[in-house]
Amino acid sequence: MKDLFWHKGLRKKLVSTVKAKGITDINVLHAMYALPRHYFMEKAFEEHAYEDKAFPIESGQTISQPYTVAYQTQLLNIKKRDKVLEIGTGSGYQAAILSLLGARVYTIERHHKLHLKSKKLLYAMGLKGIRFFFKDGYKGLAEFAPFDKIIVTAAAPEIPKSLLNQLATGGHLVIPVGDVTQTMMRITKNADGTFHTEHFEKFKFVPFLDGLEK
Ligand code: SAH
Repeated sequence: MKDLFWHKGLRKKLVSTVKAKGITDINVLHAMYALPRHYFMEKAFEEHAYEDKAFPIESGQTISQPYTVAYQTQLLNIKKRDKVLEIGTGSGYQAAILSLLGARVYTIERHHKLHLKSKKLLYAMGLKGIRFFFKDGYKGLAEFAPFDKIIVTAAAPEIPKSLLNQLATGGHLVIPVGDVTQTMMRITKNADGTFHTEHFEKFKFVPFLDGLEK
């Protein structure tokens, strides 16, 4: 794996594109510039790695569109040392962005192959503070709760109660909710234990599924 001059050039353009679409968080834009996305994709797609598009990865899954990653990350409002739970490790790209922002990341994947592959890649890249779990993410990770932030990167038919229960006070859950298309939602836990819900743009994600796959 090499990160060459032309990769960096294309990455700079990608960051401008994402910025032009409305992403303003400078830390998110910096992380996106720093992270070689082509490491997370199959060799055949290398020249497309810096297009603002989702691409197929193993096990019939996708690496999310950069704009979507930036959008969800911006909504999370990551602070250094935040404890963040991600459901849907996939390629590991989103987890890597969170790690670059200084978060302590707990990421869950239900596909065994993807879980192993992304774990290996992120260790090889020397990214720090990421723990990988091969699990069904629907129930979250009660043994490590509460989390300052929770991000779901697959389409959820509804908001899982178990995830709300694992939010710290003041914490955000960012989740795409819906069947055919999804509305990005951000749920914040108030000090009195109630929740505040905000609705954002529409997206299209792969489905949130039950159970595990070897
Ligand atoms: N964050 C990923 C996006 C991957 S697509 C990236 O940056 O590349 C969504 C991922 O969610 C897929 O890998 C899919 O297998 C996983 N997924 C779907 N339902 C899940 C569940 N219940 N628990 C854990 N992972 C799940």
